[in-house]
Amino acid sequence: MTDYNDLIDKARKGDQRSLGRLARLIDDNQDGAGVVVSRLFPQGGNAHIVGITGPPGAGKSTLVNALVREWRKTDRRIGVLAVDPTSPFSGGAVLGDRIRMQEHATDPGVFIRSLATRGHLGGLSRSVLPLITLLDATGFDTIVLETVGVGQEEVEIKDLAHTTVFVTVPGLGDGIQAMKAGILEIADVYLVNKMDLPHAESAVKDLQSMLLMSTQRSAWVPPVLRTIALEAEGIPELTEIIAAHWTHLRDSDGLKEWSARSAEMSITEAFREAVEDRVLKVVSRDNDEFNEDVRKVSNREEDPASVAARWLSLAKIREEKRMDFYDVIKARRSCRVFSPDPVGRDVLERVVDAAQWAPSGKNRQNWRIYVVRGQKKDELVQVADRSFPRLEPGLKKLYDERVVEFTRGFFKTLGGAPVLMVFYSKPTDEGPFVDTQSISAAIENALLAAAYEGLGACWMTGPVHLKNEVDSLLGVEGMDLIAFVPIGYPGKEPPVPPRKEGRVEWIGF
Ligand code: GDP
Repeated sequence: MTDYNDLIDKARKGDQRSLGRLARLIDDNQDGAGVVVSRLFPQGGNAHIVGITGPPGAGKSTLVNALVREWRKTDRRIGVLAVDPTSPFSGGAVLGDRIRMQEHATDPGVFIRSLATRGHLGGLSRSVLPLITLLDATGFDTIVLETVGVGQEEVEIKDLAHTTVFVTVPGLGDGIQAMKAGILEIADVYLVNKMDLPHAESAVKDLQSMLLMSTQRSAWVPPVLRTIALEAEGIPELTEIIAAHWTHLRDSDGLKEWSARSAEMSITEAFREAVEDRVLKVVSRDNDEFNEDVRKVSNREEDPASVAARWLSLAKIREEKRMDFYDVIKARRSCRVFSPDPVGRDVLERVVDAAQWAPSGKNRQNWRIYVVRGQKKDELVQVADRSFPRLEPGLKKLYDERVVEFTRGFFKTLGGAPVLMVFYSKPTDEGPFVDTQSISAAIENALLAAAYEGLGACWMTGPVHLKNEVDSLLGVEGMDLIAFVPIGYPGKEPPVPPRKEGRVEWIGF
């Protein structure tokens, strides 16, 4: 397993390769991306995030390039995230960005990444938020977010960036009028680039008069700046204004308000993405339960909204639990209270598969696993219930009445588990000692896999003495019944008893 902490440490020390690896992990939403982002998140919150937005061709990339050059005169570390919604497969303009930014390619204090949009955040890429977290938490002082926008659809950029700069150019004329509704609310700084072109001053005047008409009044009055990005003219003034706005935010309640707005937006987005991910997982031809619902809706036995509501309640609860190996070991405790939510067949198959990868004596793999739900499971639960009296005296010797009562209740319903796995071992000439070890390894694998999947399970031997009843319910002959393993999502997280001392002797150390 990749040591993310090591990568994060190196990235923080300025190692571009580690940073690049983390960025790719996040951008491709690979396994582990979520873990990395939650580890990084508490260390962020220091960078100044600057949004540069405006219509295509306004000179944003040229401007960002010049800005980076200006900022690098001091020792600030600068990250640039360029988002291009016009390019569905990182073509055209993204390449353009790279070429324009090339002068900074070898500068370890600059990190540049172009992102293709995936239709999120009003045209912004889904990985923008986590990538901002990455740069912020690894010590970048300023993060530039360059986006194409003409107004309306860019409302979210002000929730992503502390300071938003709107770039326009002379000659758009009526175009600017058309945009005004959208842009008047988004920017903290307005900028007319390409001041070397004809009618540049009238573009500035247009903007100024539009801003005067704005009804929004706040302590910060958005200035209108003039630049010729190609010649880096007006860039020092731009960096000064950007810094002044940052100071203004920090000295007023502005930063607090921004943080709250931004947090609200990012939770909403993360939630939307999580639900979307779950939906995509559910809506699959490989999913038996989903196929069953498809059949029902096409036969008009149930309406689509009711099916969706049912799946949504599952999606809400079953957020993916990805754990480190040692966390899985500790999470695998005996669960005795289950939620009635059904468990997907795909998840159960992974658990059973893990069981079958266990080692076995002479590789006989002489186990048989019955995965049971519905009517047959209920009948097996009744057998478990009948097996309890034989256990009772032993329990009474060890525990108080409360524990005995709880256990009795557990045997009655198996904690309400929706699925029961029954493990059998087929005797071999290795003898019961070896056979028991093989099947035990398989059961333990299943229990660990279940914990990894966020499921609860527990290893029960109580019903074994009613083997004949279980055999006849399952139609089994000539095998040893080893265990019942009820399985399902935990209704209550199982307790974690502390480990006992003095169980290990170290010899020769
Ligand atoms: P973006 O699409 O907003 O990122 O714009 P680019 O930075 O790609 O610039 C678009 C074109 O405008 C390029 O050919 C730039 O060389 C040119 N450009 C950028 N800034 C200026 C400027 O200040 N004056 C003039 N005349 N052209 C500029």
